[in-house]
Amino acid sequence: MSSVSLIVQKFGGSSVADAESITRVARRIVATKALGHDVVVAVSAMGDTTDDLVDLAHSITDRPDPREMDMLLTTGERISMALLAMAIKSLGVDARSFTGSQAGMMTDSQHGAARIVDVTPDRVREALDEGAVAIVAGFQGFNRDSRDITTLGRGGSDTTAVALAAALDAEVCEIYTDVDGVFTADPRVVPKAHKVDVVTYEEMLELAAAGAKVLHIRAVEYARRHGVRLHVRSSFSDSQGTLVAAERGKNMEEPIITGVAGDLSVAKVTVIGVPDVPGKAAQIFTLVAGTGANIDMIVQNVSAANTGLTDISFTLPRTEGDAVVATLRSSQADVGFADVAYDDNIGKLSVVGGGMRTNAGVSAQLFTALFEAGINMEMISTSEIRISVVTRGDELKRAMGVVHAAFGLDGDVDAVVYAGTGR
Ligand code: ASP
Ligand code: MG
Repeated sequence: MSSVSLIVQKFGGSSVADAESITRVARRIVATKALGHDVVVAVSAMGDTTDDLVDLAHSITDRPDPREMDMLLTTGERISMALLAMAIKSLGVDARSFTGSQAGMMTDSQHGAARIVDVTPDRVREALDEGAVAIVAGFQGFNRDSRDITTLGRGGSDTTAVALAAALDAEVCEIYTDVDGVFTADPRVVPKAHKVDVVTYEEMLELAAAGAKVLHIRAVEYARRHGVRLHVRSSFSDSQGTLVAAERGKNMEEPIITGVAGDLSVAKVTVIGVPDVPGKAAQIFTLVAGTGANIDMIVQNVSAANTGLTDISFTLPRTEGDAVVATLRSSQADVGFADVAYDDNIGKLSVVGGGMRTNAGVSAQLFTALFEAGINMEMISTSEIRISVVTRGDELKRAMGVVHAAFGLDGDVDAVVYAGTGR
């Protein structure tokens, strides 16, 4: 047993986009090692490599085979891990790269969305014991039963890093990205957004679910479950980033609003003229569930007294819209509703903050800000620490700016975005 502390560092695609970036990242890893830490690195594919590979597959066939898709996509991380190991070696420090299976990332067999079932990083430990930096390909694993390579789903390298940090009992898992940390809003959308020093797992989960892209939601869940401290920071600067932990420091008051998130990837389905009798919602949502769609907000209007009919609206990922609408239409006569409307020009705005629990009037403040800006809300939903509203899609950006200002979150200067497309 060594007394050296272990740090896991994850570098996203924009941090290793080209040879120069890879060398910069290698220098940072070497500097961490020089401070006396053991370093394990999880790395994403270079730049937009994964997107390009997805596009390439779809230029061959409309329905790429899931097993072969994982074979294809995992090559992206294999390129960056090998190049990064070479770069570190050329700086005079030993380094060894490992694929997900070599690193012991055991998953279930669900291609494209595999879940980690076990982590057995023996070879990673051996490399560390021999004084090397271990580089692990992000986003990939191996299924023992099928003996096939799997991927964890898009953005899955964060989860790789957190799982390694948990299995190796790392002191911290540093997530390097192209912004300085977790912001009060996406700085590409709200330039006056500022970095927050600490967010809780709970808040981070709500923000990620509401569309904040800085961390993969499964990585945050995994970190919370295993108590892995996350430090989200920029690979382009040395500044302190954002700590994601179970709670804030003792002397830090909980802000009422920690952040504002926006999501344009949602659509709204309205089932019109539903008979207002018991069982109809059950019937409709059983049909929807049968398509595998993930429903988010649901609103049922009061039934019009003279007709006994009501409208039910719900939101879902846009990618699932077609299947859901087709399924509902095919059962229209059976359920007995009048029509189905589909609207994909919507946006979802959410405000998140642990302090909401102990503060009244947050909804009133949010709704007033939107009203004063002339922005209409079409749906509203709340959780203990989140309020979400649906607006017109083309008004979402403006709504985010207005709400950000109304809750006093605007910083004095515009935030720095170092790279990346936010894609
Ligand atoms: N390269 C994969 C993706 O783009 C995994 C990751 O970047 O986390 O989704
Ligand atoms: Mg990527």
